[in-house]
Amino acid sequence: MTPSSPWLLARVVETRQETPHGRVLRLRVDGWPGNIAGQHVDVRLTAEDGYQAVRSYSLASSGESDVLELAVDELPDGEVSPYLVEDVRPDDELEVRGPIGAYFVWTPDHPGPVQLIAGGSGIVPLVAMARVHADAASRVPMRMLYSVRSPDDAFYAEELTRLAGGEGFTVDWAYTRSAPVSVARPAGRVDATMIAASTIPANESPSVFVCGPTGFVEAVADLLVAAGHSPDRIRTERFGGA
Ligand SMILES: Cc1cc2nc3c(=O)[nH]c(=O)nc-3n(C[C@H](O)[C@H](O)[C@H](O)COP(=O)(O)OP(=O)(O)OC[C@H]3O[C@@H](n4cnc5c(N)ncnc54)[C@H](O)[C@@H]3O)c2cc1C
Repeated sequence: MTPSSPWLLARVVETRQETPHGRVLRLRVDGWPGNIAGQHVDVRLTAEDGYQAVRSYSLASSGESDVLELAVDELPDGEVSPYLVEDVRPDDELEVRGPIGAYFVWTPDHPGPVQLIAGGSGIVPLVAMARVHADAASRVPMRMLYSVRSPDDAFYAEELTRLAGGEGFTVDWAYTRSAPVSVARPAGRVDATMIAASTIPANESPSVFVCGPTGFVEAVADLLVAAGHSPDRIRTERFGGA
């Protein structure tokens, strides 16, 4: 995106309740220039009195299509996310600007193994990367560690399970509040033991993408460095919050 990137009209074509507090939105944007997996957009809402609010949202979609996919987790006291999760309906209009970001991106020509680590809605840009990996039938090993409060809070759970049934992509789940009975590890935050057991080791020099709430991203990045990963191979995207 350049500073002069225009605001584009985005018409809601579909919404889907994805978790108890999260919704997937599909938006048609005429004039959309296409985007790479990992990029995000700014979304602008305008109230009837002219008041405007702008927030960033990652894209689960990529490529040439002019239908963009977002997934939004509702923050109960938030200004914008409750509207996007609770109120937006097909045919509603928003505005978007982008695509934004050249660093937190992955394309199939990216060399070497890839480790994706998501917390909560931080899955959105990483699911875009997993989709591209599958569509390109990439032979590059891609592994994902996805941390959620409980199984119900996972975005894209069915799709990730399906993708993990294919070649070269695996998913490890971390539950912070409540784990299914079938999982041996009790619920808890991602820690050094989990990083050691459930991610590509540092000696294989993976490119690592970490995305989620700021506190999650910083804690995971510290664990990765302590596990021997070079900081310059760790790319992070912080969604805000503590
Ligand atoms: C590059 C980028 C990509 C993003 N992609 C997504 C996405 O794909 N899906 C998604 O749901 N969100 C995403 N976010 C977060 C999003 O931009 C908003 O911050 C979020 O929806 C909250 O907005 P709000 O107006 O509802 O809350 P606000 O009114 O802005 O904030 C309400 C309260 O929540 C706190 N807060 C703000 N953001 C967070 C957060 N992420 N976690 C916890 N507390 C927070 C604030 O400090 C404040 O106290 C992304 C953020 C960035 C920077």
